[in-house]
Amino acid sequence: MSQINIDQLSEKYLLINELKSLNPVLWENDNYLIDNDTNNQLHFDEVIDAEKRLERFAPYLMLAFQETTKSKGIIESDIIEIPHMKMLIEEKYDLHIQGNLMLKCDHQLPISGSIKARGGIYEVLKHAERLAIENGLLNIEDNYEKLHSDSFRKFFSQYKIAVGSTGNLGLSIGIMGAKLGFNVTVHMSSDAKEWKKALLREKGVTVIEYDSDYSKAVDEGRRQAETDPMCHFVDDENSKDLFVGYAVSALRVQQQFKQLNIKVDQDHPLFVYLPCGVGGGPGGVAYGLKQIYGENVHIFFAEPVQSPCMLLGMMTGLHDQISVQDIGLTNKTEADGLAVGRASSFVGKVMEPVLSGCYTVEDRFLFESVKRMYEREGIFMEPSAHAGVYGPISLLNKGSDYLNRHGLNEKLEGATHLVWSTGGNMVPEEQRRLYLEYTY
Ligand SMILES: *Cc1c(COP(=O)(O)O)cnc(C)c1O
Repeated sequence: MSQINIDQLSEKYLLINELKSLNPVLWENDNYLIDNDTNNQLHFDEVIDAEKRLERFAPYLMLAFQETTKSKGIIESDIIEIPHMKMLIEEKYDLHIQGNLMLKCDHQLPISGSIKARGGIYEVLKHAERLAIENGLLNIEDNYEKLHSDSFRKFFSQYKIAVGSTGNLGLSIGIMGAKLGFNVTVHMSSDAKEWKKALLREKGVTVIEYDSDYSKAVDEGRRQAETDPMCHFVDDENSKDLFVGYAVSALRVQQQFKQLNIKVDQDHPLFVYLPCGVGGGPGGVAYGLKQIYGENVHIFFAEPVQSPCMLLGMMTGLHDQISVQDIGLTNKTEADGLAVGRASSFVGKVMEPVLSGCYTVEDRFLFESVKRMYEREGIFMEPSAHAGVYGPISLLNKGSDYLNRHGLNEKLEGATHLVWSTGGNMVPEEQRRLYLEYTY
């Protein structure tokens, strides 16, 4: 990496000093453009194509994972109201959240219980489909139920899949890959929880552990996979397939909002709060939502105070050329899914004209929110997933310029605030209890 002069950078970007002091901040993106057609790295057709591919796999998923029968093999989660949490936040933070406060329940996604069940599973399925078609074993007109068979498992067992992860991506790739018959290796960062490694090993996945953080685990995985032509590396920092898989969620949200009679238009702005690690998950969702709702959607990413890699990369325009360690932060957080010190530059660049801003949140808040959400709404979400809950507080409580500049203060009555929950259903009972009893 090139040398970065942090003193000079801090003079230009005063927020860096706030980040260093570990105060929660809200950064508003000045590059935010209403016209985002300048983005030609991706085409929305790819997202539509991904949705169709997932439909082709639905009959297979129903057979391979019983839990997807209810949703007919479609991996999707509900959008629900959280009125008790809304009341609590209003009381505690002395603010009035006008409009709806809703939760996108990706902690409940089938198969792997986190937002990674979108991108991760999609990339594995796409890879499997390509191999099967290239080898003359599958046609896209076929009923994909046939993939659930010993002959296909034997075929896929010749191939390997590798991935680097803080935990949840490894779970998604590992569970899906192993089910199809692939040989899967997951390179886990030091943040990864023991139970995730144990569960993967139980499923026959090879888990390699590192003492270092996420970026190192990804680098090692990439390096080892490069030398092996039979190995497909799921590149969390650069993969377009992952990104597109996440983006399919936007088409589903559009349908769900219609069913729920929730409007998104000039008078009904939509605010979305997404927990962010390396950026692929929230980036894909944001890209899709922006394509659908344009200037009527306002998207914010949420990061722990010790790991604001996307904020730092986007604010400085340095993307993956700067890490949170460069400004003296540790990247140590209990929000294991968000413990990433260096953001994806692919995603950061795509987000330049899409994202409204990024905010940071303290671990203390995450644990408090884990408890309150459980008490008030009966919902368990892992700590990382609670970063989104802080969104309305960050945006509404700090006298945001963003709302003024975009003339949104007058429209808040008709607004919908969508907190994107990102994980929780796979967390074992014992670990849940630890989170719920944890005093910060
Ligand atoms: C991975 C993850 C995120 C963030 O996704 P990225 O693609 O890393 O930005 C958020 N929440 C949870 C629970 C996750 O596992």
